[in-house]
Amino acid sequence: MSSDIIKYSDLKKINDSYEPALSDAIKSVVDSGWYIHGKQNEEFEKEFADYCGVDHCIGVGNGLDALSLIIRAYKEMGVLKDGDKIMVPVNTFIASVLAITANDLIPVFIEPNEETQNIDPSILESEYTSDVRAILVVHLYGRICDMTPILKFADRHSLKIIEDCAQAHGALYRPFAGKPEAEAATCGVRSELDSFFMGDEYEGASFEYTKRAGAIGDAAGFSFYPGKNLGALGDGGAVTTNDTELAEVIRMLSNYGSSKKYVHEYQGLNSRLDEIQAAVLRVKLRRIEEDNQRRTEIAEMYYNGIDNPLLKLSSRAVDGENVYHIFPVFCNERDRLQKYLLDNGLQTLIHYPIPPHKQKAYSEFESFSFPVAERLADTELSIPLNVSMSDDEVIRVIFLLNGFV
Ligand SMILES: *Cc1c(COP(=O)(O)O)cnc(C)c1O
Repeated sequence: MSSDIIKYSDLKKINDSYEPALSDAIKSVVDSGWYIHGKQNEEFEKEFADYCGVDHCIGVGNGLDALSLIIRAYKEMGVLKDGDKIMVPVNTFIASVLAITANDLIPVFIEPNEETQNIDPSILESEYTSDVRAILVVHLYGRICDMTPILKFADRHSLKIIEDCAQAHGALYRPFAGKPEAEAATCGVRSELDSFFMGDEYEGASFEYTKRAGAIGDAAGFSFYPGKNLGALGDGGAVTTNDTELAEVIRMLSNYGSSKKYVHEYQGLNSRLDEIQAAVLRVKLRRIEEDNQRRTEIAEMYYNGIDNPLLKLSSRAVDGENVYHIFPVFCNERDRLQKYLLDNGLQTLIHYPIPPHKQKAYSEFESFSFPVAERLADTELSIPLNVSMSDDEVIRVIFLLNGFV
């Protein structure tokens, strides 16, 4: 076996695999003489909306801005106001929470389910108060949240559902995969979906209800940070939604609040997807299904190969297709495991070592206790999973993990 170091991720190797298309795309933008809000962004927005299965996509500066702009736009529209509460999982990347507090709203932290690491729908009702106006779900590690009860909960209380899709480009929600239509029809997710289930066009057809991440809730934020499943060569982000008014407000807010040049409806900001990043993303979007398929293959190898009583894996997704942005393993002796792996040439990361309520930035939540999230933060270790890994490397990772005593 090779004694080379296995990096957690090798962005140069990954991006090399798209060449020469990436360099050609960049060169064509350089040659065009047009660098902001041009043809590349316009085409990418169409292609990404199409891929996600939504009416609107707005390219923005990064993933945090995407989430923050959704909340800001809802405030401008009178849907949300200062002091309203938004439910959010407590084991997320800080950006999900920053989007809420930056807009003078209040996060209501929700524990994850320990087996799925996604927001636990069974505690939403007991945490609900009448000043909760929205729920921000995070499809963590590339796995779709348990959306059926969340859709029902949101429907019951007229809450907006905002999806944080920064880790879940292309993930599928398929709650009734393989089940008969009649069963799906009686599930009663949302009135809108009920009519979808029972619509004439599906009568007699073998039933399968599928939506992609970014098309399940009312609006979604994506990040194209270089390490994400769809990664730019710099910062980038997008909002997807079927809500035409919301899309229009976000489009204005992200461009100085202007409806047309030098006419300003809102006190907006500058958060745009530049032409070079849009051109790069268009190249990479063409291969995303193949890339996610390779990620799934590697994950399958891990699930089939990792066998060590000291390690616990995430439960397998049953009602959706995970795109495996991150492959977590859980170990009570995480720090010793990480050192052992590094000593044997394997780089790993931790997602995330400190939950938001334990961060200095959020000292007002210091006294809160979230034992599940805290336990996950103490035991999680992310092993390499990316499209530049060879089968040999995957096998070496499995061998090392099984050799940990
Ligand atoms: C990466 C990430 C973000 C933020 O995206 P940026 O583009 O880095 O601002 C938000 N939420 C989650 C869950 C992320 O992983």
